[in-house]
Amino acid sequence: MKVLTLDLETSPNLAHVWSLWNTNVGLSQLIESGEVLCFAAKWHDKKQVMFFSVKQHGKAAMLEAAHKLLSEADVVVHFNGQRFDIPHLNREFLEADMEPPAPFAQVDLLKVVKRQFRFPTNKLDYVAQKLGVGGKTPHTGHQLWVDCLSGDEKAWALMRKYNMQDVVITERVYDKLMPWIPSHPNHRLYSESDELVCPNCGGPELKMQGKAYTSMSVYQRYRCADCGKWSRGNKRLDATEITDIK
Ligand SMILES: [Zn+2]
Repeated sequence: MKVLTLDLETSPNLAHVWSLWNTNVGLSQLIESGEVLCFAAKWHDKKQVMFFSVKQHGKAAMLEAAHKLLSEADVVVHFNGQRFDIPHLNREFLEADMEPPAPFAQVDLLKVVKRQFRFPTNKLDYVAQKLGVGGKTPHTGHQLWVDCLSGDEKAWALMRKYNMQDVVITERVYDKLMPWIPSHPNHRLYSESDELVCPNCGGPELKMQGKAYTSMSVYQRYRCADCGKWSRGNKRLDATEITDIK
């Protein structure tokens, strides 16, 4: 299973505004729409963090790189990417007259965090620090975007570092959350071998531990010795002929 962690940065929309408070910006006030400035990505089994930007590679080459990586990936891991990163890239592909990348499954860690836990905030920086896997690279706030848009080399160096660090901590959070991820794409289905492996991490050591019960049947239950994910077999060990009426 080829797992790609991805994160991107966009430029803000640029508009004429008449007030700073409670402003609705009409389309005629929009001067420039936001675009993808850069992205960082990392394969789960490789050390290298890749980075592509409009500054360093130009927009077309950056989009080609993103398209190629997404097309190679079986699974794309991100933090809020289902609402942000992937639709932004899709829009860029469409506007550049590119075809859709090959389909991939997505694991959105923001969704996992929201669904499984109650943190005081679900922000990546907070969750990563709380789990002890580092935090975001400090930066100069909005000024960083202003400086990058004016082509400042130092600002771009910081943006690169910031974006790459986001991918690093997103992947570490993914590893921490592994046994908590519901309906992770099943590793067994992506491997040639028919040996039992953990559906979430692909680890080979599954311990039989108890039984899994539904209202009709009983199955063997397993626990992954690598990540701790619980799973079950699909062979019925027993079934009832009588069940209640719902
Ligand atoms: Zn596992």
